[in-house]
Amino acid sequence: MSTSDVDTRDLDRMRPPHEAREIIARFLTPMPTEFVPLAEAAGRVLARDIIAPEDHPPFPASTMDGFAVVAEDSSPWREIIGTQKAGNVIDAEVTDGYTVRIMTGAPLPPGANAVVPVEATEPAEDHVVIHQENVKPGENVRPVGSDVRAGDLILFAGTRLGPAEIGLVAGMGIDPVPVARRPRISVLSTGDELVEPNQPLGPGQIRDSNRFSLAAALGEEPVEITRIGKAPDTRPELERLLRERFDEDDIIITSGGVSMGELDLIKAILLDSKEVEVHFRRLYMKPGKPLNFATHGKTLIFGLPGNPVSSLVTYELFIKTAIRQMIGVPANQIDRPTLRVTLETDVEPSDRIEYQRGIVRVDAEGRLVASNTGMQRSSRLQSFVGANAFLIIAPRERTYVAGEQVDALMFAPPFA
Ligand code: AMP
Ligand code: MG
Repeated sequence: MSTSDVDTRDLDRMRPPHEAREIIARFLTPMPTEFVPLAEAAGRVLARDIIAPEDHPPFPASTMDGFAVVAEDSSPWREIIGTQKAGNVIDAEVTDGYTVRIMTGAPLPPGANAVVPVEATEPAEDHVVIHQENVKPGENVRPVGSDVRAGDLILFAGTRLGPAEIGLVAGMGIDPVPVARRPRISVLSTGDELVEPNQPLGPGQIRDSNRFSLAAALGEEPVEITRIGKAPDTRPELERLLRERFDEDDIIITSGGVSMGELDLIKAILLDSKEVEVHFRRLYMKPGKPLNFATHGKTLIFGLPGNPVSSLVTYELFIKTAIRQMIGVPANQIDRPTLRVTLETDVEPSDRIEYQRGIVRVDAEGRLVASNTGMQRSSRLQSFVGANAFLIIAPRERTYVAGEQVDALMFAPPFA
């Protein structure tokens, strides 16, 4: 045994979830910066602040289809001396008595300082009659740099590149884009009972669902799944599979094999492996009590409990958070908001802090009300379906009765 009894006792102390998060946070390594083509940057997280390298628009641009004029010229009749489309600048100067036909987004031709929209004119072949009085200088024109000024800080490091951010970066001519490298993550389901979803069940077998639910959850984050599979409860095989990933991955996720049984090999392998340090392996929460957290150098190892709900809840609370911290997402975008909600039904507490899957909605009076998703057993994935929050049910003697308030950790917006 490589760890003393005293150490094991401390490892087995049931830690509250917040303490587990603090421990994990101590072992996170920020992802290095890499430059990726703009076309592949959606969903990634900026590694640097982006300072606008240029003005936008880069020229005074018309916001209307109409006529470019000298605003101070009060005569209604103007001779048309050309057409200014988007994408070039015509060789014509607008002076009193003259105008240039202009399209939305086109540069204001030299001499002009306003655009009169088509609707306010009576155009003919070679001239136009302007019906608008008092054309103001700058009217219907976007001045240079009025959307973005060169030198402005337009996006902070840690910003996730969604559609608007990608468009902004594209408009500023930034390609490739500096982003946090995607954490490399492998996923391993363990258990002799596991078969593939497309296979028939033999006696005592169940289908591997964790690997697929975890892959789906990881698919929502900018990560690279380096390897994904399942393994039997065979010690040398599990050791080999883990060892192969130790130096390759930023995060190794296993499911199963961390309870108290003799075949709970992941727990044993992590504890016995000399190059691995186990930091905790029991939490004061339900589901998720047997979550194991260990490190091998900079590699984080999460031994998730095998029950499908337990593995998803611990992923959501600990791994997703760790990933987001590693890629530099600011704290206020990592922590899920906690709302006080009113229970619509009675809820029985357990002996640990329970993360019941719940449905939080806004009722007709605008109050936040919540119910759980029915039976909360950790094998019952249906208890996660349609949920938008964890209802935090702290241990106590009495039933939580309808009308009482509890905290709800929101992972999706409240329903209407
Ligand atoms: P374990 O943590 O290995 O003791 O597993 C706890 C429970 O979760 C057992 O009922 C397992 O059969 C079940 N289980 C473990 N791994 C998976 C998996 N990948 N997919 C679905 N159920 C699983
Ligand atoms: Mg097992």
